[in-house]
Amino acid sequence: MALNLILFGPPGAGKGTQSEFLTEKYQLVHLSTGDIFRANIKGETELGLKAKAYMDRGELVPDSVTIEMLESVVNQHPNANGFIFDGFPRTSAQAIALDEFLSKKNTSITCLVALEVEENELRARLLKRGETSGRPDDVNPEVIQNRINVYQRETTPVADHYKAQSKYHGVDGIGTIEEIAERLCAAIDKARENA
Ligand code: AMP
Repeated sequence: MALNLILFGPPGAGKGTQSEFLTEKYQLVHLSTGDIFRANIKGETELGLKAKAYMDRGELVPDSVTIEMLESVVNQHPNANGFIFDGFPRTSAQAIALDEFLSKKNTSITCLVALEVEENELRARLLKRGETSGRPDDVNPEVIQNRINVYQRETTPVADHYKAQSKYHGVDGIGTIEEIAERLCAAIDKARENA
């Protein structure tokens, strides 16, 4: 049975850091839509050009572009043990599209693990990260605030979508990297047993 995880949470919650660990531990293919967009911007591809203006403002890239890109990357890994979706889905439409897409492949989301971190902490972490990340969207406080607002408005419905399927597991996102990793693994292992 494939293990398909969604690593969920607001910008700055620690999804990137924790994905590295989870990918290794569960031997999954890591798909970060943000990383893929940034690689495309760097490579000056057509997709990168489409995404850049939205990303620089802290807005979401349109669903049609994002969903098509995600599906094409999943299709490049036919023999994967499973996937860790990091930063996707970010809208209800993306969640519905992902469920349908996986169902056509006779698989499904095993669980969504959410890193819960309050807003003041997110702002501080993102500004700090901006000192070294080289990401234009981590530097400007207005863009950071917009990303948090977009998350509240457009992305929190994704949590409800998976709560309705009893697949949502919230985890306290404050602590050391190891402590948070342990909490995530406990939630994932439990969800896996019940799947
Ligand atoms: P991240 O690296 O996950 O913080 O994403 C950086 C930026 O990439 C976001 O602010 C969006 O502009 C864009 N992005 C990443 N994932 C998605 C997605 N699933 N849907 C729409 N836009 C996305």
